[in-house]
Amino acid sequence: MNFDSLEKDVHIKTGESEVILTSLDELANWARANSIWPMGFGLACCAIEMMATYASGYDLERFGVFPRNSPRHSDLMIISGTVTFKMADRISRLYEQMPDPKYVISMGSCSNCGGPYWEHGYHVVKGVDRVIPVDVYVPGCPPRPEALIGGILKLQEKIKTQKLADLKN
Ligand code: SF4
Repeated sequence: MNFDSLEKDVHIKTGESEVILTSLDELANWARANSIWPMGFGLACCAIEMMATYASGYDLERFGVFPRNSPRHSDLMIISGTVTFKMADRISRLYEQMPDPKYVISMGSCSNCGGPYWEHGYHVVKGVDRVIPVDVYVPGCPPRPEALIGGILKLQEKIKTQKLADLKN
C-alpha cells in the first residue's frame, strides 16, 4: 500500500515492523481523496470527453475514481455539458440526494458560464454555480480528458486539506 501522500506522517521502526503516526484528519482525507465516486451522468457534448476519461486510454480508475449509477452512492457530481433551465431542477434534486461530504466539478464552458449560449441562449443557465455550489471549474469547449484529470487532482488536493470536524454529516 502506498502511504506517500501522507505528507506529515512519522515513520517509526520497531524491530521488524514499521509504525506510522499521523492525524485522523490526514488518514481519513487520504482515504477519501483516493476513493472518489462520481455520479455517472452527462448533459451534452462535454460528456463524450468525460466518458473518454473513464475509458481505458486515460483510465480514471488509477486515481481511485469509480463512477456510480446512483446519487446515493456518489460523493462527486461532474457537470459535463449545457445546463438548461429545464434540467437545473433535476440537477438540484440529484445533488440533494447525495450524502455529505459531497463535491461538484463544473466541466466545460457551458457549465462554467453558459459557454456559446452566454449571449443568446434563453434556455441555458449561465453557470451551474447558480444552481449548486461548485468546487472545481475545468475550462474548455470541450475540455480534453487531461483537463478533467487535472480537475480531479485539484479536487483531491482540496479534500486533503479539509478538517473532518468542519464537514457536514
Ligand atoms: Fe458542448 Fe462546448 Fe458546451 Fe461542452 S462547453 S457542452 S463541448 S458546447
